[in-house]
Amino acid sequence: MVSLDLATGKPGSENVSTSSSDKTDLIGLERPQIEELLISFGLGEKEARMRTRQLWNWIYVNGITDFERMSNVSKVARELFHSKFSLQRPEVISEQVSSDGTRKWLFRFVDPANPTLPPVDVETVYIPEPSRGTLCVSSQVGCTLTCTFCHTGTQRLVRNLTAGEIVGQVVMARELLGDFPGGERPMNGLVPGGETRAITNIVMMGMGEPLYNFENVKNAMLIFSDGDGLSVSKRRITLSTSGVVSEIKAIGEQAGVMLAISLHAVRDDLRNELVPINKKWPIRELLEACRTYPGVSNARRITFEYVMLKGINDSDADAKELVRLLANIPAKINLIPFNPWPGSPYECSDWETIERFSDIVNKAGYASPVRTPRGRDIFAACGQLKSTSERLSKKERDALSAK
Ligand code: SAH
Ligand code: SF4
Repeated sequence: MVSLDLATGKPGSENVSTSSSDKTDLIGLERPQIEELLISFGLGEKEARMRTRQLWNWIYVNGITDFERMSNVSKVARELFHSKFSLQRPEVISEQVSSDGTRKWLFRFVDPANPTLPPVDVETVYIPEPSRGTLCVSSQVGCTLTCTFCHTGTQRLVRNLTAGEIVGQVVMARELLGDFPGGERPMNGLVPGGETRAITNIVMMGMGEPLYNFENVKNAMLIFSDGDGLSVSKRRITLSTSGVVSEIKAIGEQAGVMLAISLHAVRDDLRNELVPINKKWPIRELLEACRTYPGVSNARRITFEYVMLKGINDSDADAKELVRLLANIPAKINLIPFNPWPGSPYECSDWETIERFSDIVNKAGYASPVRTPRGRDIFAACGQLKSTSERLSKKERDALSAK
């Protein structure tokens, strides 16, 4: 079990992973890392660069699982790839399809640094809409944080996912959705078809706090957005954080993706309770980091997520305070009806209350769509993800949230 240092959030897992068979897994590796490996196998610099470009193209654009398909590459080079590299994809443990078309997969990964450790299971969710398809990707197994309304928060942190495992969720989802050339789209009509890709948007909103797995999440997002990688525009990639203020500027500078903040409360006393990281970085500091987020503008607004909890954070006064707090920040507000899970201590606000709250925010000039819960019937909605792992005891949760 790996645990994160809450003070620094610095993780342990590294990027270059060698599997038990001593082959290096290429998924998630940056191009310079592949080039370096090829040079160490005896290739000249120029050829190493060209082969790396070809490998990326075949892996991310064409979705190969076998080097033999690399038809523009010599037999000698293909043999080298076979002997030195692997293209590891997760095992698909289960696939559930909701009545609304949402899909939830349970993917199994073996820790590449410690292949003898038990494998970990990760949930990834696909949400199809008429004109787009969003993949909700996990960054950790479990979470060190203990937000009281979140199912993942009841699960211990098992470990950080590597960049390869984060990218692997997208590659595998593309495969299963027929999103690589020649693939077949399942469930026509529910998954965008024709010239539109099945996956048009990626959100880091699955299990875990992405900014506590900074390097791996950043490297994975750079592969998502690279034109020679998965080629998803940075405007269509969103990272959601509970408020790890120390890393917000750096992720904006180094990855340039859209930012979402899990705000959920407008007063520190309540936010300390709901989102305990607030004790370390209170609302004022969090909003200051948003105001100065690299590249923020009216065209690139920050999304503030606000879960609607009955009688807790849903009064008119809360809505007015929210508007006041966000003045001068290019913002969108996303109201999320609370999604219950077994044993959850809250109820979702009444529909009229949500509408009233939304009206107040709208009148102040903010778009505030209420997020339609998707995939509730298969436990795929926001905050319902939790793969098999021990639950924390009440005492352990209290100890963690006191930090
Ligand atoms: N750890 C990150 C990203 C994962 S959670 C974060 O906290 O931002 C994705 C979003 O779902 C967050 O806004 C989170 O607060 C919200 N969420 C968690 N549990 C929920 C629940 N039970 N109902 C509705 N939204 C929830
Ligand atoms: Fe972790 Fe986000 Fe859930 Fe909080 S809401 S416990 S940060 S996954």
